[in-house]
Amino acid sequence: MSDLAGYERDPYLTELDTAVLRAGDDGRPFAVLADTVLYPEGGGQPADRGTLGGAEVLDVQKRDGEIRHYLQAPAAPGPVHVRLDWERRFDHMQQHTGQHLLTAVAQDRFGWETRAFHLGEEVCDIELGVAALGAEDLRALEDAVAAEVRAARPVEAARVKPEDLPGLKVRSRGLPEGFTGDVRLVTIQGVDTNTCGGTHLRSTAELEAVVLLGAESLRGGTRLFFAAGGRARRRMAAHEARNAALRTLLGAPDTGLAAAVEGKLEQVRVLERKARALEEELADRVAEALAARPGVVADHHFEGRDAAFLLRAGRQLAASAPGKAVFLTATLEGRHFFLLTAGEASPLDVPARGRELAALLGGRGGGSGRLFQGKAPSLDARDAAVALLS
Ligand SMILES: [Zn+2]
Repeated sequence: MSDLAGYERDPYLTELDTAVLRAGDDGRPFAVLADTVLYPEGGGQPADRGTLGGAEVLDVQKRDGEIRHYLQAPAAPGPVHVRLDWERRFDHMQQHTGQHLLTAVAQDRFGWETRAFHLGEEVCDIELGVAALGAEDLRALEDAVAAEVRAARPVEAARVKPEDLPGLKVRSRGLPEGFTGDVRLVTIQGVDTNTCGGTHLRSTAELEAVVLLGAESLRGGTRLFFAAGGRARRRMAAHEARNAALRTLLGAPDTGLAAAVEGKLEQVRVLERKARALEEELADRVAEALAARPGVVADHHFEGRDAAFLLRAGRQLAASAPGKAVFLTATLEGRHFFLLTAGEASPLDVPARGRELAALLGGRGGGSGRLFQGKAPSLDARDAAVALLS
């Protein structure tokens, strides 16, 4: 057994006195140890983190038949103490063992085959070879998995010769290309035997719970999201905190939150329609007032209005005062807009003057025929622009 690394001999081993055999750099400084409790990324399980002496271990990978511990700073050969970030690893063991159980129950009780597994930072998922899963399906699967958690089934690992494999009842998606040596089998007693090199809990009881979070269709299959153990509890706590904040904001109980938000959104839609109608009416009134003023150029600045407002007011004004040239500006949330237009009887060359105005204001714009509109970084040269038109 001595050829097995510490994480495989005992996945609950959190620290170890060992030695740096070799220090190297393949783009990142790394150390190869005589033995290790840090699991290298593989089989869908992320690499462990921890410390090597005083140095942080940022990543652990199998490369060229050795386990490389990638470090924040280079290490030197010699004795060293290696320590595992246990909280993170135990979380991975819960998610990973949860996946074994979920996959076995989904296959054997429901006929849904697992095609892929992904252990994410927040949630995990398995891809199932079934076109769609409804809420009832998820509930039935979650209940069946919970029964196996309650049964506190022992989880054990063993190594067998590859030639013994066909005689055993093993669930496997095949061994990696070029694989040699013994095959590692992980058994959930009475439920499942699987080929796997990862780290696992010693009992399904340590899963605490496997919570199904939802499903979505994907490439003819279904991606099923789940969280196990401490993750599921922390997620629940986050939901509770969020609900409490929403209850206070919306003045509704948990069961009324969605309806309360729907009500608020409908209110917003009604108010937006009302605001738009008022803006249009305002633009029309302003246009009337400006049309009644004497002079061949009408100009006005609007605070808190946008380009659409200028367009409406400008068009109204040009229609009701055909002899006038119209120069309108607006500022909304730090953005500046301008518009030049002219009535049918005005001799103003709108496109030519528009380009001059844009240059004067340091902005950009465009238009055709009797309308030119644009944006400017400021309206500091506004008075000069008006003077240009008179
Ligand atoms: Zn495994």
